[in-house]
Amino acid sequence: MSNKAVLKYQNSTGLEDRELPIKIISMPKEAENINKTSRASKLLKGAKGIAKSTLGIDIAGKDTIKIRRQICEDCDKRKDKRCGACGCYIVHKTRLASESCPNGYWVAEDNEL
Ligand code: SF4
Repeated sequence: MSNKAVLKYQNSTGLEDRELPIKIISMPKEAENINKTSRASKLLKGAKGIAKSTLGIDIAGKDTIKIRRQICEDCDKRKDKRCGACGCYIVHKTRLASESCPNGYWVAEDNEL
């Protein structure tokens, strides 16, 4: 399955749109019972998140990433390299400042106390 994600990218002259081809290789088993519209929406959100993480856009602080990964590492929802609650890859999800844990174990950087 292929998709394209359009991302806002900050360059020296301002924001520009970049269209990135994304190849989605597999679906998490937890997503099998989600209806198709919701599944497509989640896949696109996940693809955008991976692209942003890979390009270094919306990256959280090093301490925040470290703490989030420790929480995920100890979480009973974790399924290998993915979050069992949302299906996201933990390595990418924890890097994005605007991401949050679907179970509320950690929040987006803007919402931290
Ligand atoms: S994002 Fe939240 S629910 Fe998912 S593995 Fe991490 S701590 Fe657990």
